[in-house]
Amino acid sequence: MQIPAAFEYARAESLDHALQLLAEHGEEARVIAGGHSLLPMMKLRLANPEWLIDINDLADLDYITEEGDTLRIGALTRHVSLLESDAVAGLFPLVRDAEKTIADPLVRNRGTIGGSLCQADPAEDLSTVCHVLRTELVIRGPNGERTVPMRELHRGPYETSVEQNEILTEIRWPIRPRSSSAYTKVERRVGDWATTAAGACLTMGDAGQIEDVVIGLTAVGLDGGTATRAEDAIRGQQPGEELYAEAGRLAAEDCNPVGDQRGTEAYKRHLADELTQRVLRKAVERVNSTAAARS
Ligand SMILES: Cc1cc2nc3c(=O)[nH]c(=O)nc-3n(C[C@H](O)[C@H](O)[C@H](O)COP(=O)(O)OP(=O)(O)OC[C@H]3O[C@@H](n4cnc5c(N)ncnc54)[C@H](O)[C@@H]3O)c2cc1C
Repeated sequence: MQIPAAFEYARAESLDHALQLLAEHGEEARVIAGGHSLLPMMKLRLANPEWLIDINDLADLDYITEEGDTLRIGALTRHVSLLESDAVAGLFPLVRDAEKTIADPLVRNRGTIGGSLCQADPAEDLSTVCHVLRTELVIRGPNGERTVPMRELHRGPYETSVEQNEILTEIRWPIRPRSSSAYTKVERRVGDWATTAAGACLTMGDAGQIEDVVIGLTAVGLDGGTATRAEDAIRGQQPGEELYAEAGRLAAEDCNPVGDQRGTEAYKRHLADELTQRVLRKAVERVNSTAAARS
């Protein structure tokens, strides 16, 4: 099916206007940002909104701003802006790692971080990035603003805690000293969705130990988005190959991959193990090279 069902269209002039339109048209209204997830769903008749509320004119939702110990990202920020931002790459190199692998320039020029997170596709890369960065999300609704942690955003595949009459407005990434991160993905061909991907962010302690760590996996059914047993096993330890191997083994054990056209369950579990090791190794190297450059 290539043509969506008929729908009405309204272009919001401000955030308040968008919220008003959502309230006015009720359950049948959906926000459209880049449209790269919603339009294909409509063409396949997996989504049939009667009203599309276009938020693309809300330029005040498109920003990347460092404020104190937080990097604030507007929900309408496009993939391309995240990919090209040196500020983002400097603080959170895993974002550029991930963005380089997301789709193609056409999708990246238009698709937004807000749309990606609200689509809640289990194979979506920025969701793992946001889990790994312990993201806070700002959501606006008719009764004002609320903040939720990333682990409470997704209720399940394609389902979020952003209510029909609400809009995700901001993504907040906490900045931590002596930290770095990495993301890596195996895909069948350039621009494909992940067969499996992994991300990690860690903070190193004064004695060279891994003081804190978050590990995330994409497209392998990891409960809650992070590999907590693997994290617990390596927190407080000196980094090294044996430790990475232990983390990889635990992360692979805790995921629940489903075999499909991208790979068997066993192959994806193997990737979860291997990619976890690679991102830990890379993130440690990055913290150490930043520290060496400073001294
Ligand atoms: C060919 C192709 C390949 C792709 N490959 C990848 C890939 O490798 N990795 C990957 O991660 N992604 C991939 N994507 C997905 C792409 O990243 C997303 O489609 C896109 O970024 C989603 O953002 P959008 O702005 O287009 O969302 P839209 O399609 O506009 O919206 C998606 C959903 O989010 C809701 N929504 C949007 N913005 C908000 C908001 N601010 N508040 C509340 N609800 C909102 C909409 O109502 C809709 O339900 C691919 C897409 C295509 C078409």
